[in-house]
Amino acid sequence: MVNQNKIKEAVKLFLEGIGEDTAREGLIDTPDRIARMCTELFSGMDDTAAEHLSKTFSVSNNEIVVEKDIVFYSICEHHLLPFYGKAHIAYVPDGKVVGLSKLARTVDTYARRPQIQEQMTVQIADAVMKYLKPKGVMVMLEAEHMCMTMRGVRKPGSSTVTIARRGCFEGNSVLQDDFFRIIGGDAVNKIIEERDL
Ligand code: ZN
Repeated sequence: MVNQNKIKEAVKLFLEGIGEDTAREGLIDTPDRIARMCTELFSGMDDTAAEHLSKTFSVSNNEIVVEKDIVFYSICEHHLLPFYGKAHIAYVPDGKVVGLSKLARTVDTYARRPQIQEQMTVQIADAVMKYLKPKGVMVMLEAEHMCMTMRGVRKPGSSTVTIARRGCFEGNSVLQDDFFRIIGGDAVNKIIEERDL
């Protein structure tokens, strides 16, 4: 659970640290506002993927299931600045599927905590494997990182793409191409272009 008093103290100290006057009108309620906001931004820390992925339905058709364009907002753990974008998840069921909203909730579980994109991609893939037990899963995240765009290292609008493959997706270019074809978009075109060079 978020300790609101600690956050309030820390934000006050932080503002003093950058040379601000914490008593001025615009900042007076800022520590309290941030403390309350943190409850939402870091709610994933009190959440587990197990609770979202354990309610499954039986299916006889084990064709690929894809949930694409799941919008997420996370906080980079190195700079505490936002990174945000879309998650795409595909899996090949082994007799069981979950409600599509549960995949989005799983993404939020891992997004709403201090995070790195590569790790988040792996955590989502591993959680789906562990709790849903499909034949395989593939996860792709595309995100813009404020710590890169705000500080001028990269151009605004550039996105970082990370991919995790598990089970039957590993080394299976036919299945991976199915995934890419369904997802589409600029990031996928770039991956295919680079692969074909
Ligand atoms: Zn960062």
